Amino acid sequence: MAREAIVQGDNAADEEKKRDAVLRPRLLKEVIGQKAVVQRLGIVLNACRKLKEPLSHILFDGPPGLGKTTFATVLPNELGTTIQMTSGPALTRPGDILPFLTNATEGSVLFIDEIHRLPRVVEEFIYPAMEDFRIDIVLGEGINARTISMPLKRFTLIGATTRSGMLSGPMRDRFKMHEHLDFYSVEELATIVTINARKLQTQLSAEAAVEIAGRSRGTPRIANARLWWARNFATSEAEGHITLDIARSALAMAEVDTLGLDKQDRRYLETLIGVFEGGPTGVDALTATMNLPGDTLSDEIEPYLLREQMIVRSPRGRVATAKAYEHLGKPRPSDESDRLLF
Ligand code: ADP
Repeated sequence: MAREAIVQGDNAADEEKKRDAVLRPRLLKEVIGQKAVVQRLGIVLNACRKLKEPLSHILFDGPPGLGKTTFATVLPNELGTTIQMTSGPALTRPGDILPFLTNATEGSVLFIDEIHRLPRVVEEFIYPAMEDFRIDIVLGEGINARTISMPLKRFTLIGATTRSGMLSGPMRDRFKMHEHLDFYSVEELATIVTINARKLQTQLSAEAAVEIAGRSRGTPRIANARLWWARNFATSEAEGHITLDIARSALAMAEVDTLGLDKQDRRYLETLIGVFEGGPTGVDALTATMNLPGDTLSDEIEPYLLREQMIVRSPRGRVATAKAYEHLGKPRPSDESDRLLF
């Protein structure tokens, strides 16, 4: 059973990867929203082209699905250069990153996702690569050991993180540009969904686009997943056209509520309210009770609930707000005592 769940999880992740690859914008002009970030990147791209210099190292941070990988792939496309992609957890020893560094060509991009999970030894190994485009390699052991300095091509490191706070100070300082990605407006997501429906050769009404966008938690990746599901639903249950009614029925069947929260988001609120009486509750207690990895809670569930002010962070832990009680249709403890009093 556990194995089956893992296989299903892998399939879902594979499908998500495929979907991302098909729908991901290729050039800066295709990127929707994040206007200030797009403008600044446009400036550095122009400067690089005119000065014939590589891009400076760039760090993107923000919750999952907001476009960090998209920006990282758009930049080399714009410059007509190549990208190598890896991630923090895949790099356990300096030897793991070495081939990426030595393969990097002049002006090419090395993208490290989840860079906050890079082990300290690997982090320290790449400092000279980032600063002076060289690496120090130790040859031999004991008293015979000697260090040689190996030159590298001038490449660009692009890091992505959902937790910029967990990045070490020295690492952060080595990125000349930091760009924070924020949640998208409903209008921006509706534009993304409309463009992507065209890419998927699916008819989507303007009202259905707004409906899907409004129920996608401000996140393009979620909007794409909802669109994908609505397309399957429309193909199976109707003529393949996503109308407002079809979009609503598809989202209802996927158990996505009117605010765009899914089962997992609601389970979080139900646990906080039902088990912990609305908090304050530490994230560890919530993680253990929900039997979910801590990262899922803090990276995937909480950022949107915080932004929508359904929960707040207090020094003693998470607290459910009146809006959360209202959304779940549960009375707040104070409302109940009010009722008892009168
Ligand atoms: P992250 O790396 O932050 O987790 P991604 O860059 O992989 O997020 O984005 C997920 C998907 O969302 C992409 O494949 C793309 O289709 C879509 N997307 C993200 N940002 C944008 C954007 N600004 N404009 C259009 N589509 C976007």
